[in-house]
Amino acid sequence: MTEPTPYEAYAIRYATVARKSAENFIGGDAHEQGERMDYFVWLVRNAERTFIVDTGFNAAAAHKRKREFLRSPAEGLRLLGVDAATVENVIVTHLHYDHIGNFDLFPKARFHLQDRELAYATGRYMSTEFFSYAYELDEVIAMVRNVYAGRVEFHDGDAEIAPGISVHHIGGHTQGLQAVRVWTRVGWVVLASDGSHYYANMGTGRPFPVVASVTEMVDGWRKVRSLASDVRHVVPGHDPLVMKKYRAPSPELEGIAVRLDAEPI
Ligand SMILES: [Zn+2]
Repeated sequence: MTEPTPYEAYAIRYATVARKSAENFIGGDAHEQGERMDYFVWLVRNAERTFIVDTGFNAAAAHKRKREFLRSPAEGLRLLGVDAATVENVIVTHLHYDHIGNFDLFPKARFHLQDRELAYATGRYMSTEFFSYAYELDEVIAMVRNVYAGRVEFHDGDAEIAPGISVHHIGGHTQGLQAVRVWTRVGWVVLASDGSHYYANMGTGRPFPVVASVTEMVDGWRKVRSLASDVRHVVPGHDPLVMKKYRAPSPELEGIAVRLDAEPI
């Protein structure tokens, strides 16, 4: 079998917010200042293909949820030479508001989604605010509209999207979360998304408090690690350390984007 062409992978930071420790770890101190939460979309590309992983929220959603909006994810993509309007493949790790806004900016895209995520986001648990809080109803409805328009490609569990890039059901944080495994010049890199918000969630065994199943979240940490060539190549979904462990691809992108197909510091 020939090896797939390696992909480049980038994290693009578009928003940030201060957090209390209890907001990041079950059992965390309610008063203690915690790690900031950074918000990212991810770009995966090689000469043949381009994939965007998640689409982020917009300025209106940032205002509503009191997040500090740095720039539109589309602007971050543009700085890396990608025109959101022409992107054909978007992998949606899950349907929480911070991962699926900005649909209007991706008019040509097909969306890759787990069956279980749409079932969860439109099913019985959404009548309990604890589970529905991180979903934005209008965004979930927009995804249902995409289903009816034939623009959603469903996956059930693990699936190869193209040579060298695959999705893997993780669960835990939501019922249908999926991580993305990417073949790169440094081996298999895993975009865990909210399979682990911070390095410390999976690294110290402390679950994140927005959760559908704590046991599945713990299983998910094991799974994302097993998918990567090395545990250091598992990239968490919201950790500001990502911007420190990896380098910007150019001086102009300092603080905006980092290249993940590299050895982390
Ligand atoms: Zn998230």
